[in-house]
Amino acid sequence: MTLLRIGRTLPPAAAPMYLKDIASGISGLFRGGQTVKKFEAELKAYYQIRHCFTVSSGKTALTLILQSLKLMHPERDEVLIPAFTCYSVPSAIIRAGLRIRLCDVDMNTFDFDYAQLSHILSGENNRLLCILPAHLFGLPVDVARIRTLIAGKDVVIVEDAAQAMGAESEGKKLGTLGDVGFFSLGRGKALSTVEGGIIITGRDDIAEQLGRTVNEMRDYGAFELVKLFLYAVALMLLLRPSLFWLPKSLPFLRLGETIFDPNFTMRKMSAFQAGLARGWENKLEFLKKKRSENVRGLLERLKSRQSWVDMGVLPDLIRLPLRVDSAIRRASILSSSEKLGLGIASTYPDSIDRIPELKTRFETINYPAAKKNAELLLTLPIHTYMTPNDLDRIAELLQNEECPT
Ligand SMILES: *Cc1c(COP(=O)(O)O)cnc(C)c1O
Repeated sequence: MTLLRIGRTLPPAAAPMYLKDIASGISGLFRGGQTVKKFEAELKAYYQIRHCFTVSSGKTALTLILQSLKLMHPERDEVLIPAFTCYSVPSAIIRAGLRIRLCDVDMNTFDFDYAQLSHILSGENNRLLCILPAHLFGLPVDVARIRTLIAGKDVVIVEDAAQAMGAESEGKKLGTLGDVGFFSLGRGKALSTVEGGIIITGRDDIAEQLGRTVNEMRDYGAFELVKLFLYAVALMLLLRPSLFWLPKSLPFLRLGETIFDPNFTMRKMSAFQAGLARGWENKLEFLKKKRSENVRGLLERLKSRQSWVDMGVLPDLIRLPLRVDSAIRRASILSSSEKLGLGIASTYPDSIDRIPELKTRFETINYPAAKKNAELLLTLPIHTYMTPNDLDRIAELLQNEECPT
């Protein structure tokens, strides 16, 4: 694993950072609070929604949403999430002092397993505060169906669009389908400001409580801003395939690791980050277009393979998920990709019920599809640093792996 490979190395996901972004970040910082206000106004216009709050990360956004909902419904404390999702989600729930409830997922769409979801929702439960559908990799899930299932119940839909900024489904923007939605601007998401989170909601009651909760948070300190700046410079230089081998070889950066940790720092978004985002609508469109060209390019090259996607309308993905048929095959593909620097990655290490720190909280229910996804899923890179030659090499690797030697 700790083999040092110097040479073209693709990151699994990347939203590039340019010198002009950093320049905008610095000038944003000098303009101060109005830079953040402007970013929020642009977001409200883009999403055609009344309320928007910007913070330091997706998990901060989720924590603040949950804390606000808890204050609005003190008698309820359960948050229902997919058993296969990012570890930041349970981290935020624990941070907010709430309880995690799980539902298994559909192996192909990563949406809830609706048989299990109907069963969970049919039970008498007046502790359920909210339910969190997640558009993993940008693949849209059926929020309307959840809305139908909870009709008549006062359960809030919190849409986890962390990986789906700018993505659409049937002409509707993801993030606007629930009662309240959030996005991540972290490294490797659809758009990045080093770190960052966005909350949007059309519900005045939720926004009113959120406004108070967000206001109680601290701003980034001077030292933290310097760190953000240095991180932005590092991303600008080191995300490029010619240099990505360098950060990848530094274990303390823990690149690509998903960790469960409720003790993360929560801040309001800084003017530096809002400045980094300047011109984000155009950048997002450009990145989206390039990524979807790469998705199409890969699917064409892999045409022999059955994919989760029906080739009708392609979703707006940030990585291309692909399930293989055995854990051994996956390990072999990952190790070849590692040697060749092709950026193929695994996803979350395990289903949420099997996170060591959380294990004791769950009954002995199994979440087989979530577990299978954690074992068998790969993602292929589709970011803007990819060249047609990279697509060829990935397709070739997967084709070769198909016939075991
Ligand atoms: C990344 C992510 C989050 C958390 O966002 P951060 O900005 O990394 O805190 C939450 N949910 C999902 C599905 C994510 O992918």
